[in-house]
Amino acid sequence: MRAILLGPPGAGKGTQAARLSEHFGIPAISTGDIFRANIKGGTELGKQAQEFTNAGQLVPDSLTNAIVRDRLGQPDAVPGFLLDGYPRNPEQAVELDAMLADLDTRLDAAIELTADFDEVTARLLKRAEIEGRADDTEEVIRTRLDVYATSTAPLTAFYAGRGLLVQVDGLGDIDEVTARIIAALS
Ligand code: ADP
Repeated sequence: MRAILLGPPGAGKGTQAARLSEHFGIPAISTGDIFRANIKGGTELGKQAQEFTNAGQLVPDSLTNAIVRDRLGQPDAVPGFLLDGYPRNPEQAVELDAMLADLDTRLDAAIELTADFDEVTARLLKRAEIEGRADDTEEVIRTRLDVYATSTAPLTAFYAGRGLLVQVDGLGDIDEVTARIIAALS
């Protein structure tokens, strides 16, 4: 299984990615988690990414594509992977195709977790109280949703055109959403 997870911030991609990773026995690869770990660790990559993640803007493709290419080349990703948060614009989608072609493989599915913007905003503001993520402020959430609508949402049509899009309602109980995704994939 080689799949990507699409959906607005707050749709539950990270939560579902962890569950699907366990179910299918493949690594869940989150570009957001990789950036946050690097920011926390004070690495050069973290220093370069931080101004963008804090503002809710996309980290430049040159940086993002390089970390994904490197990660997909690691042995645990050979049997399969689930990408959470990548690709996030059409240029990254083209680059992902090139990476997979170099690895002699291709995508099996693009899973879109749908959720309306009012619901995800409420979820993110609630999460802010618990986790205190730097980009979970009302203003930055608005920017992230704008970036999603402008840059990432067009990818659903791109993958639908290739017959890879699997749309799943992200609202409701966490277990129920996981079950919906697994059912939709089979
Ligand atoms: P969310 O989906 O909740 O907005 P993520 O954890 O996926 O959060 O991403 C957090 C931030 O990391 C994004 O706002 C962006 O700055 C950066 N980021 C993550 N993935 C990418 C990507 N594929 N391209 C560019 N920037 C990214």
